[in-house]
Amino acid sequence: MLDCAIIGGGPAGLTAGLYTTRGGLDNVTMFEKGMPGGQITMSSEIENYPGVTGHITGMDLMIPWPEQCQRFGLKHEMSEVTRVARGEDGIFIIQKSDGTSDEAKSVIVCTGSAPKRAGFVGEDTFFGRGVSTCATCDGFFYKNKEVAVIGGGDTALEEALYLAKICTKVYLIHRRDSFRSAPNTIARVKGTPNIELVLNAVPEEVFGGAMGVDGIRVKLQDGSLRQIDVPGIFVFVGNNVNNQVLIQEDGSFLCDMTPWGEVKVDLSMKTSVPGLFAAGDMRESAPKQVVCAAGDGAVAALQAIAFVDGHH
Ligand code: FAD
Ligand code: NAP
Repeated sequence: MLDCAIIGGGPAGLTAGLYTTRGGLDNVTMFEKGMPGGQITMSSEIENYPGVTGHITGMDLMIPWPEQCQRFGLKHEMSEVTRVARGEDGIFIIQKSDGTSDEAKSVIVCTGSAPKRAGFVGEDTFFGRGVSTCATCDGFFYKNKEVAVIGGGDTALEEALYLAKICTKVYLIHRRDSFRSAPNTIARVKGTPNIELVLNAVPEEVFGGAMGVDGIRVKLQDGSLRQIDVPGIFVFVGNNVNNQVLIQEDGSFLCDMTPWGEVKVDLSMKTSVPGLFAAGDMRESAPKQVVCAAGDGAVAALQAIAFVDGHH
């Protein structure tokens, strides 16, 4: 039986693997369905991981992480986990897509999340070359420039406010004339002089060239097109949490979740189920940054060690 099963091999899972094995757990396996490294390996540049200077890609950042963990005994299994269940004896059962399963005393779930795409022309082509889903990651690249934000929920409005502090102007493009966001956030957006609301406007096409994005065309209510010339487009139209492994046979979740499908955790990354921890982008209120996911992984690992040792 495993002391700890780690589901997902992004920054959270790899850091959990490092801390559990180096902290003394003998039998730890990290289950990762693809290559370890997580979603940051898709990024062409990461500037905000502490201590890293110079131009490096997300892949450059993540390449040494698995080797560092393996040195302390982390086992890596390339498998897709389909479900984490829990027997009456409190032992966890890790079910995998090949039909086999493993048992574990503790589990750290680190399966991440993925922002939704809006579906306009050019969104995929220019993703990472002017189209972004992360203002904290990419906002700085547009310092003293104009950008557009797409969406009308809390995320879009909060990120528009964040970008308005860095950029000269933010066009907030929303397909309706009313927002889903909290009233005080809407009031703050309306009171920010360098945010222009572009309402009843459906994104049609992002355009540009070899150097990246030049702008976006939106269709207005009267059918006319408006062109907004900006080098950066930030899309915030919702988020899919990779929480499928926690769904049980009867459709319920193994542990308590937020209404938006994130795992509820306390400051120790403990879920509502003893011995089950969640870390990284899939937990509630995650800042969705590599440094934070790695920090979560370390916190969860220290708690998993205490749980397996009976000090919980
Ligand atoms: P993830 O990195 O999403 O890793 C989850 C892992 O779990 C994946 O490898 C996945 O394959 C695996 N997995 C999922 N389900 C299963 C399953 N059922 N079985 C087995 N394995 C499974 N952050 C920054 O700090 N700075 C940046 O500049 C920055 N730029 C970014 C640019 C881009 C293009 C993207 C997409 C993200 C960026 N981020 C950046 C965000 C950062 O990548 C995430 O916050 C971070 O990767 C989250 O780590 P995680 O371990 O929680 O999840
Ligand atoms: P959301 O509430 O689902 O909002 C998504 C927005 O994107 C909506 O305004 C939607 O328009 C728009 N949209 C969806 N698909 C689109 C498309 N294809 N093209 C153009 N626009 C599209 O998502 P979210 O903002 O990420 O928030 C998710 C949940 O987290 C919400 O419940 C939110 O309250 C919560 N949250 C809370 C906080 C906070 O409390 N501080 C912060 C962030 C998020 P329509 O309105 O027309 O559908």
